[in-house]
Amino acid sequence: MTPRDILAAHPIAGDGEMFALHDPATGALMARYAAQDGAAAAAEAAARHPGWAALPAAERGRRLWALGAAIRDAAADLALLECANTGKPIRDCRAEVARVAEMAEYYAGFADKLEGRVVPVPSGHIVTVHHEPYGVIAAITPWNAPLFTAGWNAFPILAAGNAAVLKPSEYTPYTTLELARMAQALDIPLVAVAGGAATGAALVAAPEVSKLVFVGSPAGGARVAAACAARGIPCVLELGGKSANIVFADADFDAAIQGAQQAIFAGAGQSCVAGSRLLVEASIHDRFLSALHDAMRRIRIGDPLDESTEMGPVAHAAQLAHIHGLIAGAPRLTCNAPARGCFMAPTILHGLPPDAPALTEEIFGPVVAAQPFADEAEAIRLANASRFGLAGAVWTQDLGRAHRVAAGVRAGTFWINGYRTIHVSVPFGGFGASGHGRSSGIEAMRDYTQTKAVWLDAREQPALGFGHRP
Ligand code: NAD
Repeated sequence: MTPRDILAAHPIAGDGEMFALHDPATGALMARYAAQDGAAAAAEAAARHPGWAALPAAERGRRLWALGAAIRDAAADLALLECANTGKPIRDCRAEVARVAEMAEYYAGFADKLEGRVVPVPSGHIVTVHHEPYGVIAAITPWNAPLFTAGWNAFPILAAGNAAVLKPSEYTPYTTLELARMAQALDIPLVAVAGGAATGAALVAAPEVSKLVFVGSPAGGARVAAACAARGIPCVLELGGKSANIVFADADFDAAIQGAQQAIFAGAGQSCVAGSRLLVEASIHDRFLSALHDAMRRIRIGDPLDESTEMGPVAHAAQLAHIHGLIAGAPRLTCNAPARGCFMAPTILHGLPPDAPALTEEIFGPVVAAQPFADEAEAIRLANASRFGLAGAVWTQDLGRAHRVAAGVRAGTFWINGYRTIHVSVPFGGFGASGHGRSSGIEAMRDYTQTKAVWLDAREQPALGFGHRP
């Protein structure tokens, strides 16, 4: 089956703005669909879903567990659909689908473990603290890992007793819509609407939506946060990054070379945590760049449906143009990539001035900007010379240094002698311009509930010192 056939088997019924999707590997037209301009109605339907919040939490957990099992059963088809949807290598799509099932299972287990507490106030009251769902929480998501991001956001929203409305990227709606269909078959209030920024904006404006999660670009996040503020509703922002991958001269050289490739070339660099700045101790800088250049020539770049492909094209033509715009004229080491579609060769930039756009802006492609540093203090200073703070890593054999650097770098996630592992059980999110709020781990259950304090007057003679006394 071609990507076009796979998408044709999942038609999208809408009557709004038209979108045309092209195969990023070939440039061929793959599908056309119309936006489903029913964001508000979708939110309302989710809000009216009978009794999700009132169900015993364990029953919500059982349904989420069943959804995890359904995802495992459909894993091969979902991976193919994601591959056609995104142009990501099929092996990456399979790995991501397995992670989505794991996310459903993790939050299934969590549904009945969100406990409140009792506060020992001095007045003699019994004060209990409860975590209540908001109602409807909407999540607007980007195109780089659509199904993964859908599960990552929707499952804690649902486990906490909310209904979820997902608005996937206009470039990659298919797997999110499929996930919503699977959830609805299990009577889980997960709704998805296909469309672009206008559909997303309508969702933010829908009165049924009580909280919003935005995963996307800093510019989009700023617009959505302003719209939420105008409505007086809270939002979680998961935005971009410009993460520093720091290599000291004492690091395991080969492991650090592997790690630097994983950091920036996996997913063709279209990863929010991508290690797009490579800081290398000056004494090994040239040798490291030369070894990385050799290694990247061996990355298998090609057809996403080919089992051996490690790196596919970037997702669409506008993204490719964005990448080329940011790196125009920069000195580089590069290699070959197929000269068709949206393929982009892995690229190392070097010798850039500190204010070069490739060092300050998120590129979101297989391009890393290298910088030498003299010592630990300079490594930390350079790592923090960014408004973003999503992730970072250090490679060194010196444990004390590893912890000092981890403590010194401003980022929501930091790896020591590794890169890019994340797990739904671990809080994930940004510092600074990379966003706020946490959409995984226990933290997500807290973020997707609102805290209520209930005061019971347990004193023998309550002292209500005001008003009428019989
Ligand atoms: P984008 O901001 O262009 O779009 C993201 C989503 O927002 C899409 O669904 C889009 O239709 C919608 N949207 C755009 N403008 C909107 C508006 N005014 N109102 C409502 N909805 C609107 O981002 P993108 O190009 O699709 O994705 C790439 C970005 O996502 C990168 O910056 C990347 O770092 C970021 N990202 C962050 C994380 C994270 O967890 N921090 C994860 C993945 C991707």
